[in-house]
Amino acid sequence: MHYTKEEINSMAAANTFGELPVSITKNENLENLLKLDLPEAIKDPVSNDDLYHRYFVKNAFWHKIPAFASITEEEFLDVKFQNKNTVRKVEKLIELVGEIAPGGFIDDVKEGMELAPMNLSISPYILSLIDWNDPYHDPLRIQFIPVNSRRVADHPKLTLDSLGEQGDSPVPGLVHRYFDKVLFLPLDVCPVYCRFCTRSYAIGGNTETVDKVKFTNAPQKWNDAFAYIASRPEIEDVVISGGDAYMLAPDRLRLIGNTLLDIPHVRRMRFATKGPAVMPMKILSDQKWTDALVEIVDKGRKMGKEVVLHTHFNSPNEISDITRRAMLHLFKKGITVRNQSVLIKGVNDTAEKMIHLIRKLSYMNVQPYYVYQHDMVSGTEDLRTSVGQTVELEKVIRGVTAGFNTPLFVTDAPGGGGKRDVHSYDYYDETTGISVYRSPSVDDSKLYIYFDPIDTLPASGQKLWEDESLHEELINNAIKSSGFTSLTPVL
Ligand code: SF4
Repeated sequence: MHYTKEEINSMAAANTFGELPVSITKNENLENLLKLDLPEAIKDPVSNDDLYHRYFVKNAFWHKIPAFASITEEEFLDVKFQNKNTVRKVEKLIELVGEIAPGGFIDDVKEGMELAPMNLSISPYILSLIDWNDPYHDPLRIQFIPVNSRRVADHPKLTLDSLGEQGDSPVPGLVHRYFDKVLFLPLDVCPVYCRFCTRSYAIGGNTETVDKVKFTNAPQKWNDAFAYIASRPEIEDVVISGGDAYMLAPDRLRLIGNTLLDIPHVRRMRFATKGPAVMPMKILSDQKWTDALVEIVDKGRKMGKEVVLHTHFNSPNEISDITRRAMLHLFKKGITVRNQSVLIKGVNDTAEKMIHLIRKLSYMNVQPYYVYQHDMVSGTEDLRTSVGQTVELEKVIRGVTAGFNTPLFVTDAPGGGGKRDVHSYDYYDETTGISVYRSPSVDDSKLYIYFDPIDTLPASGQKLWEDESLHEELINNAIKSSGFTSLTPVL
């Protein structure tokens, strides 16, 4: 498809953009351009499919949930409706989608929950975007609702705290791993609970299989973390995560923001929230929360300090016109939003899906910043991909759009090595699925090892892992082949 002058003119007149519901308005500059001869095209024509990322779901998609069939847009956009109707128990799931889910699905969920490391929590927004004709393949169902039938046995090296965060905590709720950056975890609750959460060891209350470490949403408990940050002059960068900054009341958001801004050496702050991906209407309808965020960002800017929002979209299916409006609101208020995705099997592990996500985020002025290799978290083995697959995906993605909108593909090195470019391993064996990384800026005496899911290995590799007595030898061989036997492996 090329646009001719006539087509551009008629689209501008009709206030539409092709068949996609994105508006362009007739204006003088455009009209002046159309008076010129259009230059000859040097690129192949594009189709509407190529521009599909500009499509944002606008209809009342929540009406397909029987209990929401008469809910108006105003009600659905109200964050109180979203909080009140969030699904936290299987009984509520049955009440809302029991009629429209395929037979046997709910029983599958009940069995899946028995071994899941995370509790159930799904916003009405996400629930309404799931394709209930085929929930097994739906990228949102895959992220938030466990089913027993898709369970894959854990790799023997999986743990709940795969990043070793607790070992780098000077005080509870604070992680100091990198020289100039800390991770502050002021709370342990989120608007939804993701099956793949890196902090399954702490987030979202005990499950049948996991007793969680507690972070408290109580300001008096945060003082130790603030005091530590104030006492360490090298700390310039603070990530406020958890848990999720969406769940902080506006006065607590302000308290954290103001306290950290008042520490002279803190130069950068990032509030981390999955909220825009799972409950975007909060930004539009919870004015007090959004105003508190804008206030901190503005105050920081006046002080010459950067305060931004980091969010977590994984699938273009999470994005609707409500999201577009919410992101536009933040953009107009001058708030920078960056995105950190997790690479998840069945969600965003193909070039087509990842390109769609990246283009859609860029279109909304959300910068695609990181794509994480899935952490080695227990109970999530059906969601991980191999390092080899991620490296291939990265090759296709780089060059698809501008560099600043191209995410870095990283492995968060297990055991506390921090983020490594996924392809920067010192050794990788596709048969055993073992990759070996160094992280000299975090600890130059250590080696960090990532293990691919066994079901992604060739048959010969899968066979090797069947014999437990061979495991140590497989790891030792990989270390030897990396050439760094003098370093200590973190296992
Ligand atoms: S929102 Fe973030 S912290 Fe909360 S469960 Fe999901 S991944 Fe974990």
